[in-house]
Amino acid sequence: MTLLFRPSSLAFVFCMLSFAIHAQMHHAFPPHYTLHALHADILPLSPLEKQVLTDAIIEGEVVATQSFWKNNRIASTLTIESYTEPSMYDVELIGGAFEDMGAFCTGEMYLNVGAKGTFYLSGSHSEGWKPACGVQSYEPLKRDALTMGFNRSTVELSTDWAAGNGMEMLTITGTGFGATQGSGYVTFETGSGYYNGDAATNFNYTDWSNTSITIEVPQAQSNRVRVITNDGTTLESADSLHIRYNLDSEPFSPYGYTHLCNNNGDGSYLFHVNEAIFNQPERLEAVERTLDDFVCKTGVNFQLNETPTSLGWDLGDGQNTISFDTPDNPLSPGTVGYCNTLWWSCILGDVTFHVAGEIDVVLNSNFDYNYGTGYPTIGNAKFAYVLMHELGHAMRLGHVNEWGESMYPSVTDWPSQNWFERDTISTNDRLGVSQAVDIASTFTFNACGISVMEPLDIDCEPVVEVAETETEEPAPYPNPFEDFINLPVAGAQWALMDITGKVVQHVPANRTFLATDGLRAGCYLLRLEGITEPRTYRLIKQ
Ligand SMILES: [Zn+2]
Repeated sequence: MTLLFRPSSLAFVFCMLSFAIHAQMHHAFPPHYTLHALHADILPLSPLEKQVLTDAIIEGEVVATQSFWKNNRIASTLTIESYTEPSMYDVELIGGAFEDMGAFCTGEMYLNVGAKGTFYLSGSHSEGWKPACGVQSYEPLKRDALTMGFNRSTVELSTDWAAGNGMEMLTITGTGFGATQGSGYVTFETGSGYYNGDAATNFNYTDWSNTSITIEVPQAQSNRVRVITNDGTTLESADSLHIRYNLDSEPFSPYGYTHLCNNNGDGSYLFHVNEAIFNQPERLEAVERTLDDFVCKTGVNFQLNETPTSLGWDLGDGQNTISFDTPDNPLSPGTVGYCNTLWWSCILGDVTFHVAGEIDVVLNSNFDYNYGTGYPTIGNAKFAYVLMHELGHAMRLGHVNEWGESMYPSVTDWPSQNWFERDTISTNDRLGVSQAVDIASTFTFNACGISVMEPLDIDCEPVVEVAETETEEPAPYPNPFEDFINLPVAGAQWALMDITGKVVQHVPANRTFLATDGLRAGCYLLRLEGITEPRTYRLIKQ
């Protein structure tokens, strides 16, 4: 059967659909793309830094969404109604879902109707509006803290760790769940609050009794699990459910998994690097080393073309690329990397498969990178860490909020400075990629010419060894702190940074404490330098 995933075939698909250019389609973004915290590889921007990039800061609500074809690309518009002035803002995004195709970028601000909050926009009413700082252009309205008063003593979970959307069942035991589910549901942390009842009632429940509920774990972030009973009572688990990795989408949603496939007719996805990478040996070597390690540990069939490409990260050009962004097509400020995926669906009877037809990984050229292994100097972004994170997205992994995992979304936060495994994929995310490889290589859907990805069975040694243990050192205390921090390592050099990595205070070498009464409340990073392995501690000022 003909393989439809060759570039020429993709072009054919676009020709077939070219009549649809300018047509608009109202739609909701798939839920896994609309979770605010599941996007982007972020250098967190302060409100002041956002203001500098912004032409309009509005408080309002998304009242409509549309997707449409634009120059053979899929784009979307969010219509935002401002609360503070009588005005509508049409905000254009790259990517969206249109009929049986979708193009999604991990760094974009995909929101559905009803999203309320603050929006940072660039542009004007005459030229049109865009998000000013990628996914950080939206700050959801602060939710009420409703956790007080939940009785946590009676609700227990059958496991501490589960894969989000990894086909794992969770049993919740306790009392008072109600004899039948009715309009009750179980809900999980999304990263910006809990799933609402509309979403959560669609989860896969296999058992509901007054004392026990069994449910398939959806894509989620680590936190306590909540049971909302038919009469509206909320019960919450005593312990948190830790999410070790997230596969994209929900199998029980209309979108299902986005499968990887035999993309190039040779069992694999072939990636091309652009000249900005190919022409600099340390960059090319870092791509090869990271990709080799990723392939070696997971069996994913991602291969690298031997010559560079002049194509960039636009979806729909028929090439999978790993590239630096360019001045005429830049990433959003504050975003270190994106992973863009073009998928399309194939329908047979009542079964729909979604397949990744093109994957473009792009890195922001405005950062100073460390291309080697080991500890980066302060202010440098770790190239291998960012690339392996994007390769995780390419394998359809979402973010987790467990520090130390490859799919943790922030590159300046605690793990990236202090993380032994940042030269290689973390153990949990390796399991996630391996499951995605299994799904990709075993599905049996003999329609539309889709054939399976063939895992690479290669005899390889991991390029980088994983350090399994961290040395125990006395940490600065107290944490949270108020007026001072005790510094427990004598003779060492400390620097206090804000959450963006900017140094706010250097500490002389002989000091054993740091006065902090002038600092604003919030998160800080305290870096210990001048020793063999610099470390960074995350501390909170109350
Ligand atoms: Zn990410």
